Amino acid sequence: MTEKWTVVLCIGIAVLSILALAGTMIYYIVSMKKLEKVLDNFEKNRAQELELTKETRESKLVSRLNRLLKNVSRNQEKALEERDQVAGMVSDLSHQLKTPLSNILMYTELLEEDGLTIRERQEFLQETRMQTEKMQWLMKTLLKASRLEQGIVTFPVSCTGIKKTVAMAVGGVYARASGKKIIVATSEFQECVLYHNPKWTAEALVNILENAVKYSPEGSVITIELYPMEFYTRIDIQDQGLGIEEKEYNNIFKRFYRGKQVEQQDGGGLGLYLAQLILNREKGYITVTSSPGNGSCFHVYLLNEASARKTVIRQ
Ligand code: ADP
Repeated sequence: MTEKWTVVLCIGIAVLSILALAGTMIYYIVSMKKLEKVLDNFEKNRAQELELTKETRESKLVSRLNRLLKNVSRNQEKALEERDQVAGMVSDLSHQLKTPLSNILMYTELLEEDGLTIRERQEFLQETRMQTEKMQWLMKTLLKASRLEQGIVTFPVSCTGIKKTVAMAVGGVYARASGKKIIVATSEFQECVLYHNPKWTAEALVNILENAVKYSPEGSVITIELYPMEFYTRIDIQDQGLGIEEKEYNNIFKRFYRGKQVEQQDGGGLGLYLAQLILNREKGYITVTSSPGNGSCFHVYLLNEASARKTVIRQ
């Protein structure tokens, strides 16, 4: 009798072991399939998630894997974007450096010639210097812009009065404007506290004002006016220059873009691009309206103190 029960017990244990083994194998296969499905989905359409309804250990693992794969995919996209940006910048820069470089080469060859007068020699040397300075300016401005764009360079932005900033910008173009007998007239305005960085905003305004001087005739007038609005305050910089065609409104803010009409004038196509980057960092923006032949008006929008406190500062 005892022997019979021993056999039954052994068979029972064996059956239970087989069932446990089979259960573990099924669980293992199902889990593997789920993980495989996540990886398949990821390969096919990047981070598409597997539907998980039960809060089991295996479902937690799958969602962790999903999260990791999503991160991998995000990082890959970012790396590709950065690679494209760098490639674009290198190609733009080499294109921009071509002209000053070949000019330098040409003047150096001329300088090597015998029989040059002192005056000619001085002239060629001066041209070489100007081209070298242009290259230096291009590299410096582009580096600054790309560092701002990628967030490598940041600057503090706070709610500060705008009067001093405008005065700083006007002072920055005073010499150039008087050289062309251009008057920069700032209309009387009440001090407003706007969300900005005085030094960087003045630089953006200087870029706009320098253009206004550069592309306007001698003896003309540039006016600066402020218009407080509900969320933003608008700073208008109006000139009496050659103006901008409507189809160019978007292009002029792009890196290295130069209008057809101004190709003969000095410039690198970086001033407005940099101004826009600075203002975007301050959650502001810039637009333009113009009547070709009669002048352009650049509109700079900066956040009012109250809207900055409600939106950006609280975050
Ligand atoms: P740059 O002045 O060196 O060419 P910017 O980025 O400052 O480069 O300006 C881009 C283009 O926008 C200029 O080439 C010009 O065509 C146009 N532009 C900018 N400001 C003015 C202005 N005040 N009047 C007419 N055209 C302008």
